[in-house]
Amino acid sequence: MPSLLRGRLLPLLAVVPLVLALAPAFAAPPPGGPDTLFPRLGDRSYDAVHYDVRLRYDPTTNRLRARTRLDASAPTRLTSFRLDLVGMRVTSVRVGGSRARWRRSGQHLVVTPRRPVQGRFSVAVAYRGVPRTYRDPDGSREGWVRTPDGAVALGEPVGTMTWIPSDNTPGDKATYRYRVTVPRGTTAVANGDLQGRRNHGRSTTWTWRARDPMATYLATVAIGRFTAHHSQVTSVTGRRIPVWTFADRKRDVPRSIRRALPRVLRFEERLFGPYPFTSTGLLVDDADVGYALETQTRPFFPYSVDEVTLVHEMAHQWYGDSVTVGDWHDLWLAEGFATYAEWLWEARKGGTTPAQQFDSLYARPASARLWSPAPTEFTDSRDLFGDPVYLRGAMTLQALRERIGDADFFAVLKAWARTYRHGTATTADLVAVAEEVSGQQLDQLFADWLELDGRPTGY
Ligand SMILES: [Zn+2]
Repeated sequence: MPSLLRGRLLPLLAVVPLVLALAPAFAAPPPGGPDTLFPRLGDRSYDAVHYDVRLRYDPTTNRLRARTRLDASAPTRLTSFRLDLVGMRVTSVRVGGSRARWRRSGQHLVVTPRRPVQGRFSVAVAYRGVPRTYRDPDGSREGWVRTPDGAVALGEPVGTMTWIPSDNTPGDKATYRYRVTVPRGTTAVANGDLQGRRNHGRSTTWTWRARDPMATYLATVAIGRFTAHHSQVTSVTGRRIPVWTFADRKRDVPRSIRRALPRVLRFEERLFGPYPFTSTGLLVDDADVGYALETQTRPFFPYSVDEVTLVHEMAHQWYGDSVTVGDWHDLWLAEGFATYAEWLWEARKGGTTPAQQFDSLYARPASARLWSPAPTEFTDSRDLFGDPVYLRGAMTLQALRERIGDADFFAVLKAWARTYRHGTATTADLVAVAEEVSGQQLDQLFADWLELDGRPTGY
């Protein structure tokens, strides 16, 4: 999401361990360890592989009847495991087709299968109710957000557990299929490719398939009365990418923005490498949330779309969505890159250059919020979407560019997107890629920009 739209406070779910302050440089979470910002979310004892999400939604009552099956894999024998789910009434849990015992505990759904699981297994949860919205003190909201004619689900950072029982941590990506049943005349949009639309009685079931791995926070479904636009864009690889754009009927997307999408996509492909997903498009809905979000394949915009925000959310498709942070403390790898993409776009027509952006930010006083806490060093979840992550994150890339030169810098952007495509990565991984491409030792530069409290000197 773009920084200017986002000055939000997060739900107080985070319990940040104080030991973070003592962590060594670029401490990646231990393999199999929890996310360091939301350590109570996610269960690393298994790996989520695929979510099959069936929803039946009534826009007049905002009620959902749902059944989600998660196919997962456990490297060791599990006598019980956890999913993240808040709100909703669970009516049954089955593991491998057999009824399982379960209990709710805070945001956890703890499942105890009849027999322990190991290797591939599946768990199906049936649940119903009115899904929750998180309201933050600044008025921004996530989770299941109601609109005048339906709802939209927005999950950054934790809201997806309001409507999908899930391993709700960015390090565990999976594929998705959604089958969403709504009253006839209503549209259901989700991530990925539209597989079909089937009418039965007074209802319509929309099927969407996200074939590429996706973090839970990037999952979305939007239900309402929409205008649809279907077209294609040709990738730099020659591949034809379907474009499905949906906008609330009262809004629609101006033709200028629909025309900007292929231009932005090709601009970013030239800089970042081939577009990573099977389809693209935009989702514009009347959700009063105050931010846009890089929901995978189909970024979400509240009410309207402007070109710079489009550039930002599309850049996330490479940085954030395809290459996903394994830990929320590395979010600058998404937001710093997307902000830098805005700078590159502005420079492209002879506007402000990234070097000028850097200089004007660098001139901010030492007391500015930009300089503290350093981008990866925040301990309060409200700093997740702060200036250091976005702006100092983008400055980190400009400092890298100045050090290694344009040719190596743009080679790093592509190598990064290629090496970790559809995966997760850490800051240490980026340092390694940048050092390999440039042949220079860069750990001090990254430490100055990402870890040092206060304005780095000598830049
Ligand atoms: Zn963003």
